[in-house]
Amino acid sequence: MSILPNHHHHHHAATIGRHYHYRHHNHRIYAAATTPTKIKPNLEKLIIKPTTPFVTPPKLDDPSLKSTWPQRAWVATGCTTVLASLAASLVGSVDSHIWVEPILSGFAGYLFADLGSGVYHWGIDNYGDASTPVFGSQIDAFQGHHKWPWTITKRQFANNLHALARVITYTVLPVDLIWHDQPVVMGFVGMASGCIMFSQQFHAWAHGTKSKLPPLVVALQDSGVLVSRSQHAAHHRPPYNNNYCIVSGVWNRVLDENKVFEALEMVFFFKLGRRPRSWSEPNSDWTEELPEDSPAMDN
Ligand SMILES: [Zn+2]
Ligand SMILES: [Zn+2]
Repeated sequence: MSILPNHHHHHHAATIGRHYHYRHHNHRIYAAATTPTKIKPNLEKLIIKPTTPFVTPPKLDDPSLKSTWPQRAWVATGCTTVLASLAASLVGSVDSHIWVEPILSGFAGYLFADLGSGVYHWGIDNYGDASTPVFGSQIDAFQGHHKWPWTITKRQFANNLHALARVITYTVLPVDLIWHDQPVVMGFVGMASGCIMFSQQFHAWAHGTKSKLPPLVVALQDSGVLVSRSQHAAHHRPPYNNNYCIVSGVWNRVLDENKVFEALEMVFFFKLGRRPRSWSEPNSDWTEELPEDSPAMDN
């Protein structure tokens, strides 16, 4: 029985789906993709290596990935706010000789940040659009992130963190002024706000390649202190409705196994008539387009 050349081609297109997809979208023509069907297909020839020299990385010098000075200033104020909270907690602990409670509340803040990152990410992934007040730009950015996940690894630090840093500055600075003499409150607030602000950095690391990440980051990911690459990779695969948490990821299993977000989606649908985006996925909006050299799904 002979195998039709076409069959070979299709079969292979599926196994190298992401590369094929990318070429298609960019209307690029490569020898392997256009092998004339009259030539007996040779799998060796059809294999497209990720290191193919034909593709340049996606708009590496795109200005939208670079940090601006206002963005750096917001990250600076955000970091100052977080450090002020932690310093207030430390000073209060020294003064009162109470250590266990501030440390426990700091740990609670770290756990809260992961849960908060999941709830927020679920919300902006599923509801609203670019025109939504306040959250519009974040909603738009996360939709873009699902389409081109690898760009997060090309973003400069402040470019990636400034939006959260700004929110932290506005919300936490007043809290610091009111409760600065409460080490337990400051421990919680400092750790929670710090982890929330840096969640986009942890998220970017989750998209990194093991060999290119700092060894300490890999160790923290592998030990579950920071969200792991494999766990977050699942968020970018169908059915696109799980693993929303991006600090430690410790809540992901709890939330997904208990279908917490699905329950919330049902409530929103029956009470408010709002359909989450994840119900109508996968569609082209969430289907990922990867460049050939993408480290995004490399675990
Ligand atoms: Zn998402
Ligand atoms: Zn991601």
